[in-house]
Amino acid sequence: MADTSPPEFIATTKRIDPPLADRANPAFSPPMTPEQIGGKGLDDVPSLPPSPIVPTNTPSDINIPDNYVTHTLANQKHRPPITFRNVLQNINWVSFLVLTVTPTLAVFGCFTTAFNWKTALWSVIYYYITGLGITAGYHRLWAHRSYNASVPLEYALSFAGAGAVQGSIKWWSRGHRAHHRYTDTKLDPYSAHEGFWWAHVGWMIFKPRTKIGVADISDLTRNKVVRWQHKHYLPLMIFMGLIFPMAVAGFGWGDWRGGYFFAGAARLTFVHHSTFCVNSLAHWLGEAPFDNKHTPRDHFITALVTVGEGYHNFHHQFPMDFRNAIKWFQYDPTKWFISTMALFGLASHLKKFPDNEIKKGQYTMKLQRLAEESGEITWPTDSNHLPVISWDDFKAEAKERSLVVVGGFIHDVSSFTEEHPGGAHLIKRAIGTDATTAFMGGVYDHSRSAQNLLAMMRVGVLYGGMEVEHLKSRPFESPASTASPSIASSSAFSSSENLVGVARMSKQERELELELDSYRNSISSAEIEKHKTYDKTTLHIPPSEMLVIARSTPRRRPGFQFGDDIGSGPGSEQGLSRSDSLVSVTQAQRIGELGSL
Ligand SMILES: [Zn+2]
Ligand SMILES: [Zn+2]
Repeated sequence: MADTSPPEFIATTKRIDPPLADRANPAFSPPMTPEQIGGKGLDDVPSLPPSPIVPTNTPSDINIPDNYVTHTLANQKHRPPITFRNVLQNINWVSFLVLTVTPTLAVFGCFTTAFNWKTALWSVIYYYITGLGITAGYHRLWAHRSYNASVPLEYALSFAGAGAVQGSIKWWSRGHRAHHRYTDTKLDPYSAHEGFWWAHVGWMIFKPRTKIGVADISDLTRNKVVRWQHKHYLPLMIFMGLIFPMAVAGFGWGDWRGGYFFAGAARLTFVHHSTFCVNSLAHWLGEAPFDNKHTPRDHFITALVTVGEGYHNFHHQFPMDFRNAIKWFQYDPTKWFISTMALFGLASHLKKFPDNEIKKGQYTMKLQRLAEESGEITWPTDSNHLPVISWDDFKAEAKERSLVVVGGFIHDVSSFTEEHPGGAHLIKRAIGTDATTAFMGGVYDHSRSAQNLLAMMRVGVLYGGMEVEHLKSRPFESPASTASPSIASSSAFSSSENLVGVARMSKQERELELELDSYRNSISSAEIEKHKTYDKTTLHIPPSEMLVIARSTPRRRPGFQFGDDIGSGPGSEQGLSRSDSLVSVTQAQRIGELGSL
């Protein structure tokens, strides 16, 4: 019988012996890990359950090692690929006959049996009854425990599920739990990665190519209805699959033949492929609004053909939610059925994942889609990839081509001048100047798309960035008598405009500039080149953000002392002019950047 000796790789884990009941009849215990049950797993295929389940409290995966999946995937045996030569030996004949004879009977019946609208209606109704047996019963109640059902409802669902002829609750749920635990891997009994038709019917028609992953169903072994249905599955299946639908049509309106072919065979074919679509179509068609790590997808068409199981992306994310479709208008008759049963007191403890957690998944996927969209858009050149140009060089270059500074970036507007909606003259006037104020509302408050368009014309970064704007906006106060020689001689302040600007600086600003200047002098010119980008920190702020900063009171950094002429109290902070604010931000960033160099 089964070899229960622990495999080598789990020898270090503490082994809990199964209770007596399990040991007495190991063949019908819940599936053990494939290693534990030796060669049996390869034959774990849909078959008619021969004998009762023994209740157990021992989860089948209690001794599962941490490396179970990787170890099993790497070491377990695989059947050889199916070829024309070995195909007959690889067919699982029970499933094959059920899945081929039934549709053949249905087709034969369609061409040889008179149409009866009562039988047609009954077939549709019975399709939904047996479909719900699978979706509301096998799937959401037993495989996922997404709600509690009263005993009468459990029996009704076990009957209805038997009428769908898809194996017992125990067998079905065990495979489905493995499907959820090992989705898309070789341990998934109907992995979508093995192909659409393999996931649809192939996995039942052919013998499994490898053992499926362990999944605990010890809770189901303790369920009276599950045990009862498993024990009597064969007669239940024949009765509910063919005899009952035929009898209703026969006793009801005398259409025995129609009952057999339409409500029996044809309806069964539809129920089969409806359920199979959950494994194939629901892992192939539609979108992944909650997570795209695995193959499950959401689609209305899948929902339509699977009695509401089509929101499969949601279902794989939140399998214990009694719903598949979370919006009221989405087609999910199974959810409506369970809610109705709850209204009548036949179902309770309907589980719902918190909306907040559901929204997190949706939000993450939206962000991912946005990132993908962003990748398809050409963005303006980043300041890190643009040359840093001095004001003098910019002025000189602007004589040769149409260069305009806006927001610390130098733009070549040659190709756009004539296209400018406001007229070419306004652009021509701005050439060789810092037009930030005019662009940002001084003359016209340009739209975001205009800003985006302008950004595409970037050709350089202005050395000193917004500082030039600040210098321009200050009223002339006094000559450059107070400028220190070191500042005047430094490369950053060599232009006459900058000299005037330095002269207008407050005491505290001058101190900062002196500090900056001594830093510059302390390193070699090569080092200056290397560290030249420190000024660009101001330019990492998009122009629109700069205005926001400029309009608000600058936050002072710890240790950042303001001079008397700027003031240090909260009241004087609010009194800062726009240019004061800008220079404060700029200086603070410089100091911060220097400290980190
Ligand atoms: Zn699935
Ligand atoms: Zn499921």
